[in-house]
Amino acid sequence: MAFSATILTLYPEMFPGPLGHALAGRALQKGIWELDVRDIRDAATDRHHTVDDTPAGGGPGMVMKPDVLGRAIDAASPPGDPRPRLLMSPRGEPLTQRLVRDFAAGSGLIIVCGRFEGVDERVIEARGLREVSIGDFVLSGGEAAAICLLDAVVRLIPGVMGKAESGLEESFENGLLEHPHYTRPRIWEGRAIPDVLLSGDHEKIARWRREQAQKITQERRPGLWRAWRRRDDD
Ligand code: SAH
Repeated sequence: MAFSATILTLYPEMFPGPLGHALAGRALQKGIWELDVRDIRDAATDRHHTVDDTPAGGGPGMVMKPDVLGRAIDAASPPGDPRPRLLMSPRGEPLTQRLVRDFAAGSGLIIVCGRFEGVDERVIEARGLREVSIGDFVLSGGEAAAICLLDAVVRLIPGVMGKAESGLEESFENGLLEHPHYTRPRIWEGRAIPDVLLSGDHEKIARWRREQAQKITQERRPGLWRAWRRRDDD
C-alpha cells in the first residue's frame, strides 16, 4: 500500500506546493505516496466557522479550539488508523534524519499544522499528538514545517529514489556532515578540482572524502562531532 499522508490545515491551498514538484511530485503522480489535505475549518459547526478563540488566562493572540480540531482529527483518522499523529510545534522533539527514516518506513502520517499561538493543550493529550519541531525558530504556521518534514520523508520511501542515490552516504546518515562535491569544468575561475578526485584511485578518494567529512563536521558542528567520536570509540 502507498505511503499515505494526511494534512490538517487552515490553508489547504498551500499544498502540495513544493511537494508537487521534482522527486516528490513525480512519486506523488506515480502513486508511490498519497496526499490527503483537509481543511480544519470544515469541522467548525457554527455559522461563522470559528476555529479559534482567545487564550484562557488572557494574553495576546488566539488559540485553536479543541472541539473543532478534535473533530477534524477524528474525521481524518478513524480509530485503528496505525499512522502516527504529529503536531508541528516549536516545542516538539527536534526532527532528525533518524526520525525521518522511521516515518518513511511506516504506513504514513497524519500531520496537524498549527496557526495563531498554537492549539489547545487538551487536544494534544486526548488525540495523542506527537509534537515535532523543525528547528529552534518560530514560523507563522505549521504548513511550511509539514512540507519540510514530508519532503525529507518522501524521498526515503522505497521506490522514490533510485539505488544510486539511496541517500546512505549523505549528511547525518553516518553521523557526519557530507564531504564537498565538485564537477566539471576542471578549473573554474582559477580554482581546480582537488587532484585526488581525478586520480581514479577509488580507495584514496574514499579516504579523502571521509577525512573531509570529519574535518567539516569538527569545524561546523562540535556537538555532532563529539557524538560521532563517542560512537566511533565503542
Ligand atoms: N506560540 C507558539 C508559536 C506558535 S507559531 C510558541 O511560542 O511555541 C504557530 C504554529 O506554527 C505552531 O502552532 C506550529 O504548528 C508552527 N510552527 C512554528 N514554529 C515551528 C517549528 N519550529 N517547528 C514546527 N512547527 C512550527
